[in-house]
Amino acid sequence: MGFHRLYSKQELGMSLVAVRYRQLRTCISFLLSIVLASSLTGLQGSRAQGPAASPANATATLDRSQFHQALLDLTNPWTVMCVAAHPDDEDGSTLTLLRRKYGVHTVSLFSTYGEGGQNAVGPELYEELGVIRARETMAAAEVQGSEPHFLGLRDFGFSKSAEEAFRVWGEKEALRRMVLQIRELRPDVIITNHDTTSGHGHHQATGRLILQAFDAAADPKQFPEQLSRVSPWQAQRLFVRTFSGNQTSTTPSQAQPVVTINPNEVDPIRSTTYAQQALMALQKHATQGPWPKTVAPNGGRIIRYTLVRSAAPAQPLPSDPKTVLDGLRLPETIAPKLQSPTIDNKPLTESVDKRGEVLVALINARKAGAFTAPNELAGLDPQRFHLMSSRLDRALAIAAGVSLTLNSNPGSPGNKLAGDGSESVLVPGMPAQFSVSIANSGDADIEVKRLALRGLTVDRPLDAAEKLLQATDTSRDTKITVPKTASISVPSSEHLYDGRLFGEPFVARADLEIEGAPFSVTTETRIDVAPAVEIRNVEPSPYVRTPSTLSSPLRLNLTLINHLSTPFSGLVRINGPNLETGREIALQPRERQTVKIEVRAAGVSSRITSHASQTAGTLFASIELPESKDSITRRPVPTVYANARVSAKLLVGYVPSFDATLKRSLTALGVEARELSIEDVQKGELSNYDTIIIDNRGYEAHPELIAANDRLLKYAEDGGTLIVFYHKTNEWNPNPDRKRPQLAPYPIILGDERVTEEDAPVALLQPHHPLLSFPNKISQADFANWIQERGLYFPKEWDQHYAALLATSDKGEKPLTGGLLVGNYGKGNYIYTSLVWYRELRAGIPGAYRVFANMISYGKSVHR
Ligand SMILES: [Zn+2]
Repeated sequence: MGFHRLYSKQELGMSLVAVRYRQLRTCISFLLSIVLASSLTGLQGSRAQGPAASPANATATLDRSQFHQALLDLTNPWTVMCVAAHPDDEDGSTLTLLRRKYGVHTVSLFSTYGEGGQNAVGPELYEELGVIRARETMAAAEVQGSEPHFLGLRDFGFSKSAEEAFRVWGEKEALRRMVLQIRELRPDVIITNHDTTSGHGHHQATGRLILQAFDAAADPKQFPEQLSRVSPWQAQRLFVRTFSGNQTSTTPSQAQPVVTINPNEVDPIRSTTYAQQALMALQKHATQGPWPKTVAPNGGRIIRYTLVRSAAPAQPLPSDPKTVLDGLRLPETIAPKLQSPTIDNKPLTESVDKRGEVLVALINARKAGAFTAPNELAGLDPQRFHLMSSRLDRALAIAAGVSLTLNSNPGSPGNKLAGDGSESVLVPGMPAQFSVSIANSGDADIEVKRLALRGLTVDRPLDAAEKLLQATDTSRDTKITVPKTASISVPSSEHLYDGRLFGEPFVARADLEIEGAPFSVTTETRIDVAPAVEIRNVEPSPYVRTPSTLSSPLRLNLTLINHLSTPFSGLVRINGPNLETGREIALQPRERQTVKIEVRAAGVSSRITSHASQTAGTLFASIELPESKDSITRRPVPTVYANARVSAKLLVGYVPSFDATLKRSLTALGVEARELSIEDVQKGELSNYDTIIIDNRGYEAHPELIAANDRLLKYAEDGGTLIVFYHKTNEWNPNPDRKRPQLAPYPIILGDERVTEEDAPVALLQPHHPLLSFPNKISQADFANWIQERGLYFPKEWDQHYAALLATSDKGEKPLTGGLLVGNYGKGNYIYTSLVWYRELRAGIPGAYRVFANMISYGKSVHR
């Protein structure tokens, strides 16, 4: 085994050691500490490749910065928590600077996974987006050197008020969760970007919660049921960020002290500024991009925090503080026991390049009981001692050159998916193999006291050599049988809130000794638990049926994965009210296969009446063994009936943006439809189409459309019906800098107003207008059961050629009337609509199908 290989292992091992105390906390919390999302395969895979691609130097630099960080961490016993509503709302600059410059233990706490947001890079929304954003947050935290945690409150989309957020979250429940996290993570100082009155309702609600939680976490009368697991905790200070333009509205005192943080200083270890590192972290939130590629030439924003709560008036902020921690002191009883070791009274970081000397200092420190509370102080702030002792373990491991890795063995049955190296799962009832390796790339022999693996129902010691000689490694394999009762954790999007996001934790731990100084190394991975044969996906779901498609068979596409290392043959079965069908399937070991299945719905049509909306029920897709009727797995597929009629013989063209909603909706309506490429728009024969639809944010998704827009307008002028779904203000309004003219035939200017209450009343301003009466007579009932919101970026000005058909508003606000605009243009028609059709059609809301059917049929209505 070559030197590089050992180095890469070490680097890998160390990155996992960092995870250690995070995981310990995770164990006592149902909330997910997310360092491990990419788990064994993603994170490790990419790291393991690093040194091969760019050998020794890059590895050595990374290693040196990690070693420096581990030594710096020994000097700082404080914890700072940043509270944020959504992933990417955290103050990455301050988190980065506190950890990278000062070695502060930094944690972030997110109210939600951000699943109600948008997705700039893919079709996933809602819980699927939440899974992605959790992973993005982990990647960002890795760059910041922070440790993320989540409250798991539901992100139901943009909200204007804290009240709306609390109606969904439950204010007390949200507070309970936040208090529990503060009691577990025990921050000395809490910071937040959110005040109580600015911006998104989730931000305001989070700003209000943290004010309450600061006091409540310290009060044993609050949530006393938590006290069997955690102790009350008084954070010392709470800071709220002051942005120019907002005042922290908590208390209007003029005398509130302020901490100013300049993130533009260069980090001498990484040779970039903290602001640049924070931007790199922000870029990990790809779904929320696009982000700037570089920090502005005049640097990142100067950050100002106002102190709004202080529990330690005896330890005031000094004037001109450098960090939010300045002036805080540990009690004199414990402070000496939490002091970092030094060499010649100088910090160890000054000796980062003299690894041997540092190792001696660390060994001596461990033997002298550094970071260990003496008996008479036992019980005084034990977590702080634990944190610092873990940091000493980590520094010792790096200095000694020891790393620990845990792999689920690709060769073992059941836990590796072929053809897709990113997936490794456990299957209930099947064996799974693990391999724990420990490597010593240092200059001293290491004694191995104990090696163990823990996870699921397993907690077992692994026999290992008693001594690990320098420049050697050793590896132990162990096989477990996954309990039949193990809880399934796929698809991840169905486990966003139940604590099983990313699967089951497995922890390997090595208790070691070097020169008589004990230390331990821990590494964790998470592995999903999947059924032997998984139905990964069913499309479409929900299954929408309309009068035109009611008598046709249902056509479903099922994506199946055989997680076994043996071939599988069995049945896929679809059951539902009045229908059942099955077909045989055969899957190779670990094969992923898409199966098309057609179901003839005997008798269903006669049972369906012509109500405006009606849920037809739920189908179930299941996988069965041929000889038994026991299903291996089963997935529900909701079906919806929408009484949405379209005019006959329509041909519709559409330019999709981010997902397949338009295609599926047009199929559900039984309309002949063709997807248009940009080239089709530029050069194709558009006059064949009765209607052309530009999907939501289409001019953003396909900037080339702007130059081709004249063709679209000409198409409308010549008699076509052009429908444009919502756009954001900065994607639509005329802007010479971006060579973007007015895109509508008669001017439409968008504003920033939204209607966020999904049950906001909708008034029909011209109920007899053909767009609201042909072929479907639209009524207020068609706006029932919408999800998330009504619309975004409503037009604020429009030309008198347009008729405004609907009015809607959130509580207490004046109605917005630009949500559905329609006008004649030449021989044809133009419709601009800022309502969120893409969400409602995707969710199978019958009323949305009816209005949509009218839009695409509009050219056939008699309205001139
Ligand atoms: Zn946010």
